[in-house]
Amino acid sequence: MTTDETTPGRNWAKNHTYRAAVLHRPTSVAELQEVVAAAPRIRALGSRHCFNDIADSDALVSLEALPDVVEVDDAAGTVRVSGGTRYGTLAGRLHPLGWAVHNLASLPHISVAGAVATATHGSGDRSGNLASAVRGLELVRSDGELVTLTADDADLAGAVVHLGALGVVTAVTLEIEPTYDVAQEVRTGLPWEAALEHLDEITASADSVSLFTDWRGDAVGQVWRKMRVPAGTGDEAAGGAAQAVGTGGRAGVGTAADVRHFGALAAEAEMHPLAGVDPRSTTAQRGVPGPWHERLPHFRMEFTPSHGDELQSEYLVPREHAPAALRAVRAMGDRVAPLLLVSEVRTIAADDLWLSTAYGRESVGIHFTWKSLEPEVVALLPALEDALAPFAARPHWGKVFADRDRALAGLYPRMGDFRALVERMDPRGAFRNDYLERHVLT
Ligand SMILES: Cc1cc2nc3c(=O)[nH]c(=O)nc-3n(C[C@H](O)[C@H](O)[C@H](O)COP(=O)(O)OP(=O)(O)OC[C@H]3O[C@@H](n4cnc5c(N)ncnc54)[C@H](O)[C@@H]3O)c2cc1C
Repeated sequence: MTTDETTPGRNWAKNHTYRAAVLHRPTSVAELQEVVAAAPRIRALGSRHCFNDIADSDALVSLEALPDVVEVDDAAGTVRVSGGTRYGTLAGRLHPLGWAVHNLASLPHISVAGAVATATHGSGDRSGNLASAVRGLELVRSDGELVTLTADDADLAGAVVHLGALGVVTAVTLEIEPTYDVAQEVRTGLPWEAALEHLDEITASADSVSLFTDWRGDAVGQVWRKMRVPAGTGDEAAGGAAQAVGTGGRAGVGTAADVRHFGALAAEAEMHPLAGVDPRSTTAQRGVPGPWHERLPHFRMEFTPSHGDELQSEYLVPREHAPAALRAVRAMGDRVAPLLLVSEVRTIAADDLWLSTAYGRESVGIHFTWKSLEPEVVALLPALEDALAPFAARPHWGKVFADRDRALAGLYPRMGDFRALVERMDPRGAFRNDYLERHVLT
């Protein structure tokens, strides 16, 4: 064996110690093919940002020692990026070339292949999750073959959100678009009743909107609004924080004439979504425009994102049920809030990817950043999932969920097709693991 071998340790949140006895770090795709073909059971490990055992197996393989490849096809409007590359690295290469991706998650630290595999998303009524930009996949199957799925392949829609079940993704082809700038503002004091009554209007008021809340009180905690502005606006404005929010400044975020804020006021200082946490780790706010990759994530690449000592859960509900689902969680506020650091509400456009949490439905994501109190959180989740069950809530694949009734299959109309795809692509079951047996394959 020529690959570097070690043991994998723990995930980012440190709530899961990988049981795998070995972590392979091949330095070439050929080595990776050898490793995969020889392993009875193996899974790819990305940047370890999942909060459960989705990645685990007897053996793991990381693509960290492979070079970051970012190849733009200007004519096609696509980029071919190596699977282990992080979104922050991809963005740093794309932007100077005049290109961008359509959206980003709250953090740029995650690997492209790992994020796509679990249907990771940002926010935006017209913005699909990160997987929805995939136009091709290159993966090493369990027989060691390197196969390519293109947009013409009928299997692609089933293979994009794959939960690591089909192979080790060495490269992903993503649709890209000309680079753009984004201006971001934070508002506080949005009354809950206005949020519930006018949710559609509020989420449509910018390209990407997030509501941060602890569910208590009469007002939602913070409203983060990110608005696209023409590329270059940010460069002109560099150094001058003169983009006054709420005055119709050229950044566009505060064009109050065409946006109703229902009494929410623009924050005068930068804010972290979590009370008491230094906002230095967040991306620039107050309407100052900047490149897309320095505004779409809430957190900066060079800092620990979010809190750092936390767990996360999230449930995606169909848009039309969102106000009722939010009311249901609010009614549990007294049980939720003591375990919570903060919740975030986002919107995700529908897609046609079989295991995507937004498959076939315009969606609203109800997210929970929990304190690191695993037994208490795990004890609460069944009640939370019961409250959200009437709304056909789909849990985020990469976060903590209970699914104690094994009800997930019923939420995904193409689940049977996905199982058949797993059988075809991985007949010897090398990529099966406990997580898949629990939630997907049985
Ligand atoms: C602080 C924080 C903030 C977050 N914010 C968001 C957010 O804004 N939106 C959101 O939707 N999620 C969010 N998440 C969740 C996170 O984006 C997902 O869990 C994502 O899947 C993590 O990617 P990863 O590279 O760390 O994957 P890992 O956790 O390492 O692996 C995830 C899955 O992908 C598979 N995989 C990884 N690499 C490959 C590969 N090369 N080939 C095949 N399979 C592979 C693994 O086998 C596993 O099944 C956040 C997580 C954290 C810790």
